[in-house]
Amino acid sequence: MRRLLSDVADRANRYVEGVAERRVAPSPEAVERLSRLDVPLQDDPIEPSKVLAELDEIGSPATVATTGGRYFGFVVGGSLPAATAANMLAGVWDQNAARVLSPVAASLEDVCIRWLISLFGLPANAGAGFVTGATMANFSGLAAARHALLAQEGWDVEARGLFGAPMMTVLVGEEVHVSLLKALSMLGLGRDRVVRVPVDGQGRMRADALPEISGPTIVCIQAGNVNTGAFDPAGEICRTGRASGAWVHVDGAFGLWALASHRYAYLAEGVQDADSWATDGHKWLNVPQDSGLVFVREPEHLRAAMTATAAYLIEGEGREPSHYVPEMSRRARGVEIWAALRSLGRSGLAELVERTCRYASQFAEGLQDAGYEILNDVVLNQVLVSFGSPALTHRVIRRVQEEGTCWLGGTEWQGHVAMRISVSSWATTEQDVQSSLEVILRFAKEEARA
Ligand SMILES: *Cc1c(COP(=O)(O)O)cnc(C)c1O
Repeated sequence: MRRLLSDVADRANRYVEGVAERRVAPSPEAVERLSRLDVPLQDDPIEPSKVLAELDEIGSPATVATTGGRYFGFVVGGSLPAATAANMLAGVWDQNAARVLSPVAASLEDVCIRWLISLFGLPANAGAGFVTGATMANFSGLAAARHALLAQEGWDVEARGLFGAPMMTVLVGEEVHVSLLKALSMLGLGRDRVVRVPVDGQGRMRADALPEISGPTIVCIQAGNVNTGAFDPAGEICRTGRASGAWVHVDGAFGLWALASHRYAYLAEGVQDADSWATDGHKWLNVPQDSGLVFVREPEHLRAAMTATAAYLIEGEGREPSHYVPEMSRRARGVEIWAALRSLGRSGLAELVERTCRYASQFAEGLQDAGYEILNDVVLNQVLVSFGSPALTHRVIRRVQEEGTCWLGGTEWQGHVAMRISVSSWATTEQDVQSSLEVILRFAKEEARA
């Protein structure tokens, strides 16, 4: 075991050192070589060290270098040094995050919840669960909403299901994230029966266009649009929601972290007045993948939706992690969140948010100065740029992806094809922004001439 773990540390170091230099998307040859893993399962055991070597030699080159500084595709973030190291230690701990199975996992969750509630300014007694990502955080928050609203109507949805239940209305913005619709579909609330509220040019739900609210209603708002970075006007919508007895749920997958910075917190103003919140650790907080968080103002609704029986509702000694999430057994996700927050501190987190936003502005300025159209108000860490015709923009995106210096994706924003730049990694440097800009501008020029 000792030799094996030293070996993996060496391999991990080589990978981390290589990530700064290597192309971001793997080479076609590296992807091709993955077929070497595709062998029939052999009869006999193989030495763990050989297994590891095979995995590293074939697998590592076929990764996308999202932990480097030049990945600007989906809002994935990288992984902070403390979070990466904590993840490796947590790997050898192999803890199941139940209190009786892991006092440390349960305690770290308690601490993280307190820290995060304070960072985001959420209600002090809010309940929280550690899930795989914002999709499941949305699912969990909406499950709590479903419970609370139907309980008010005298309907026990956990016991009786939705057959014959009172009707519920779900309002979403026109630019709702697809994962929220998926969560609704898994909850039996239906992705097509939602009422879509019109949005403005930045994708913000128009508070003045909210329909009259009556009966059990969930209003799903967004803190951080995945294309523009824009925030729905939470304060106004929460006031309307409150007055009409609606449940307001916030999808703040990456945007909620803006609250950590005094400079950007204004964007999320009023968001604390909602009833439930979903966010990701694995995006802007820069912890490894598989880390989302749900918060619910009145924890009993989340517990009622997530616990197996009413007997479980009696809280014994301390919070039971599994009473707040869909899973029973799961890994100790609080470990990396704790390590990330502990290593950054409040100022480090604020600085991470502000630095990545500043780099997004530098991208936007560089592209605009070269004559290209920025399609969004760059208020956060997201930039949408068009290079002219849809076909031209697609070609530029493809060339940049193939060349490998950086990676960015495409999107369609309110009828316009755009390159989408998302800056959310702690590892990105000013030099990364400059070298990526150069490549983008070079291909934009070349393709326009072609
Ligand atoms: C990324 C994202 C999600 C989905 O999050 P996962 O962690 O991938 O499940 C939901 N909503 C928004 C706004 C996002 O940016």
